[in-house]
Amino acid sequence: MEPIIRIRGLKKVYRVGEERVRALNGVDLDIYPGEFVCIIGRSGSGKSTLLNMMAGLEKPSRGSIVIAGEHLEKMNEKQLVDFRLRHIGFIFQQFNLFPSMTALENVMIGGQLHAKMNFARFLVDPFKTKREEEELREKAMEIMRFIGIEQYADRTVGNLPYGRQKMTELARTLMIDPTLILLDEPAAGLNPNERAEFVAIIKKVYESGKDILLIEHNMDIIMNISHVITVINHGAKIAEGTPTEIQNDPEVIRAYLGDRYKIGMEGE
Ligand code: ADP
Ligand code: MG
Repeated sequence: MEPIIRIRGLKKVYRVGEERVRALNGVDLDIYPGEFVCIIGRSGSGKSTLLNMMAGLEKPSRGSIVIAGEHLEKMNEKQLVDFRLRHIGFIFQQFNLFPSMTALENVMIGGQLHAKMNFARFLVDPFKTKREEEELREKAMEIMRFIGIEQYADRTVGNLPYGRQKMTELARTLMIDPTLILLDEPAAGLNPNERAEFVAIIKKVYESGKDILLIEHNMDIIMNISHVITVINHGAKIAEGTPTEIQNDPEVIRAYLGDRYKIGMEGE
């Protein structure tokens, strides 16, 4: 089987003044269709850099990224935008909803914002025609029902509990019918109840046929959800395996899991 994502020798060097920061130092990664993959690693290990390059938001310094047979590193800006529209939904680490708009409006503009990343144009001319707006509204409501947040459709998103806001972001991502969804620590800041709910919904999205790549810190989520875990440390992949293999990998325990692992495993 061909991988949906094939990454080879991926390097990223940032220049900060005179300094050169090696965010990624030669990462290889294969992800196959139908796999639920989690990436873990300490803060600053290069996870977001990796995800941002997969979404075509950052250019690699070296190496190749092939998603669904297409080389991202060879694309220009316009090709990347088209590519994202055809394939990739993503949730960034930092929040990016419009807090004063309703949940439904935030979901509706998902596809358009995703495509153009042009907030200014959207504010001037949100939807091309009435008909386009109606179609978007119907689709957005359908997705919100699927996620289970339709009752919040007309609420101002900034006033919703944090967990509901994250669900709204997920719904917005689904508006472009992505084949692949990239999520960067979507559960950061959720309480345990919200996390359990998020796991159930992300599973449902996965079972509807999406490939999912998730950066995550919470061990309850990772262990519950993923088939394959990739561990990144100092910009390099140090391990890859099933949750059980990763929990028992001495290097992973030393570099990352440490106390978290011991606490998480108590009583098992
Ligand atoms: P993680 O998501 O694992 O916490 P990041 O990918 O955000 O890690 O960062 C990896 C390294 O690259 C860090 O040292 C970070 O400071 C650096 N870095 C990330 N983005 C930039 C940037 N835009 N400019 C300069 N350095 C950056
Ligand atoms: Mg990050």
